[in-house]
Amino acid sequence: MTQTIEAFVESIAAKNSGESEFIQAVREVAEVIIPFNENHPKYKEANILERMCEPERVVIFRVPWVDDKGTFRINRAFRVQMNSAIGPYKGGLRFHPTVNLSILKFLAFEQVFKNSLTTLSMGGGKGGSDFDPKGKSDAEVMRFCQSFMTELAKHIGGFTDVPAGDIGVGGREIGYMFGQYKRLRNEFAGVLTGKGLAYGGSLIRTEATGYGVVYFANEVLKAHGQGITGKICAVSGSGNVAQYTIEKLLHLGAKPVTVSDSEGHIYDPDGIDEEKLAFIKALKNERRGRISEYAEVYKEAIFNKGITPWHAKVDLAFPCATQNELPVEDVRMLIDNGCIGVFEGANMPTTEEAIHLIREKRVMFTPGKASNAGGVATSGLEMTQNSIRIPWTREEVDSKLKEIMISIHENCEKYGRVDDTYVDYVKGANIAGYVKVADAMLAQGH
Ligand code: GLU
Repeated sequence: MTQTIEAFVESIAAKNSGESEFIQAVREVAEVIIPFNENHPKYKEANILERMCEPERVVIFRVPWVDDKGTFRINRAFRVQMNSAIGPYKGGLRFHPTVNLSILKFLAFEQVFKNSLTTLSMGGGKGGSDFDPKGKSDAEVMRFCQSFMTELAKHIGGFTDVPAGDIGVGGREIGYMFGQYKRLRNEFAGVLTGKGLAYGGSLIRTEATGYGVVYFANEVLKAHGQGITGKICAVSGSGNVAQYTIEKLLHLGAKPVTVSDSEGHIYDPDGIDEEKLAFIKALKNERRGRISEYAEVYKEAIFNKGITPWHAKVDLAFPCATQNELPVEDVRMLIDNGCIGVFEGANMPTTEEAIHLIREKRVMFTPGKASNAGGVATSGLEMTQNSIRIPWTREEVDSKLKEIMISIHENCEKYGRVDDTYVDYVKGANIAGYVKVADAMLAQGH
């Protein structure tokens, strides 16, 4: 079996040379799905997994824009339309200097499984650009977004492909892109999600990914006879996902003690409370400053430059920053320090080797495609509200989000329960996400 898996991954690697992140994401899925296909010949005979590894379409385009000094700047942009078997392509846009085809293909591939898990009708896609919004003025970001959308608009639509935010793309960027789409098409449509509340956005969409991660972690803990109250938690990142993970952890009585950015992490032994969280939100969302400032204001906290937050002694870990931010040596440290659960808020933050160690040690672990699905699920709810032209209340959206996270958990448990004391969520999430898409692909013959 190992040989078959390796041969499959090799064949994908040969067709996608140099795309290490994409191949990593494929391997994680292949390790679960190839053994599953052995007992489900209809998928095996139709080469469904191989078909799923080939994007339906990839658009690569130039984004010219003019900076504040009047200089012409050029960025490269992409939209990977991975799979539309169960609904229009759906997935975020990432603006970050590291963005390349491999990263977007891995994200789009993950998105297919994630969106399937949400129980809603959404295919998978992802896009973005190597543009770095850091240090740019609002006017520069606006001009970039307008130029980006001038091309992207040709490839998306409310029934075709509905992008949203991801790293580097928040409410500001979505607003500029929506405005440009509307001018180009003369159409006020639900073509992007994560919109402002005044123009078709959904309540709770901003909070949804972080809240969903904690709702999911809560279900996992319950399934393992544990609770979240009183648990000491390490959270990485300080953007949208990290902020609302911390907020929901506080609501449920846990104690978050870390946050980070690319320069290092804050360890606050007293815990990050509501007031400190408000400081982080203002620092990151309005002033766009560095997390080290936290330790200048709150003297009880320490800023550890260039060090990951996984050195802290915690019960639970929530990697909410970016891919491959949690390597095997850090996981070893977490486990040695008594950590009992790792819940991914980011996409693929845990390295392959680290995941193998976690599963071998039977530590609770949830892959992002399950635990961070609350963001895209609420995007799906935004699409529904746009279609019916009725906005739902905060309570309505939040309770639907909670229901969806509970149902994702049930579905993962169905396919991933190993024995009375352990659920393998990597197995559960991949099989549950796969079956629905595979059946749709078989039915549609593509
Ligand atoms: N970027 C988010 C994700 O990774 C959200 C995508 C969306 O809402 O379409 O799932």
